[in-house]
Amino acid sequence: MTHLDRRSFVLAAGASALAAAAARSQPTAPGPAPAEGDAHRGPCVLASGNGQRAVDKAFAMIRAGSDPVDAVVEGVAIVEDDPADMSVGLGGLPNEEGVVQLDASVMHGPTHKAGAVAALEGVRNAAKVALTVLKRTDHCLIVGAGAKRFALSYGFVEENLLTPEAREVWLRWRANRSTQDDWLNDDEMDFAPERQRQARASIEFTYGTIHCAGTNAADGAAANVSAVTTTSGLSWKIPGRVGDSPIIGAGMYVDNDVGAAGATGRGEAVIVNCGGFAIVELMRSGMTPSQACLAVARRIADRTREKRLLDASGRPNFNVSLYALRKDGAYGGASLHPGGSLAVCTAHGSRVIPCTPLFSA
Ligand code: ASP
Repeated sequence: MTHLDRRSFVLAAGASALAAAAARSQPTAPGPAPAEGDAHRGPCVLASGNGQRAVDKAFAMIRAGSDPVDAVVEGVAIVEDDPADMSVGLGGLPNEEGVVQLDASVMHGPTHKAGAVAALEGVRNAAKVALTVLKRTDHCLIVGAGAKRFALSYGFVEENLLTPEAREVWLRWRANRSTQDDWLNDDEMDFAPERQRQARASIEFTYGTIHCAGTNAADGAAANVSAVTTTSGLSWKIPGRVGDSPIIGAGMYVDNDVGAAGATGRGEAVIVNCGGFAIVELMRSGMTPSQACLAVARRIADRTREKRLLDASGRPNFNVSLYALRKDGAYGGASLHPGGSLAVCTAHGSRVIPCTPLFSA
């Protein structure tokens, strides 16, 4: 599995070619020379590679004086509202029962407050609902039916998020799924050592998410940082499955003394490694954003031990991309395998650049 946008993934030849490419790859040691983004200072908005419109919007809002938390949430709403992006909000790919369930979290650096929703149905702007949890409640995370009732009580509009296009893709998966689902049989479990285990031949799951972080970095000491991650999660997931995106410290984390971090890709791997929190703590101890992301990519690779998740050369057969924004405006990203990208907007404009892969192609 790798982090492709869902449309490309559905059209892609399958996971075997990716596994073969990974088998030929070599790990890239964290380089001593900081990546280009590590040298940047000043206001900055960073997002996953599908977020160029988000960083443009959020950066403009921050320059106009908005709180970064409002700016990043407005930025990702552009992608949540876009039915052509099958990874978030309206048009997101559904769970195995054909129901779109959204996850999102947001964190405000100055107050160190977070809000999140998980398994939210029928409301497209999960990030805005998460921000409402942050601003209007004493809680951090509201899930399922409670999250929907909460959103509707604040005037969010209920709608069917499953577009005809996403339904078509889901119907195709359902008709062909065979063993390609999230349920592990005895052969797929590492907990059944007496049995012959077999890797899944191909895994027709797709991931997709938008993470976005912003700093106003007007003057280093006074800079404020916030971040958001929003997703429809893993396609064809077991109903109620919650990924890393709404988990504070996994798919998103902010410490206003240090910066922000986020992740996209296989959420289970990010959760069990506390990805966002780990990146921020590594930056606190002196690593640059790029170095911290690469170190956590390495940690994820080292801790992936289930055979069904490893390719022939023992490397993860999925991708995760990691993003970091330091409060002074330095930024960086890394991924397990090539293919991850990040969008960044600074005073010089916005662009999309590759994340540094741990395993080069
Ligand atoms: N991390 C998300 C999840 O596991 C999906 C993704 O980023 O593509 O739910």
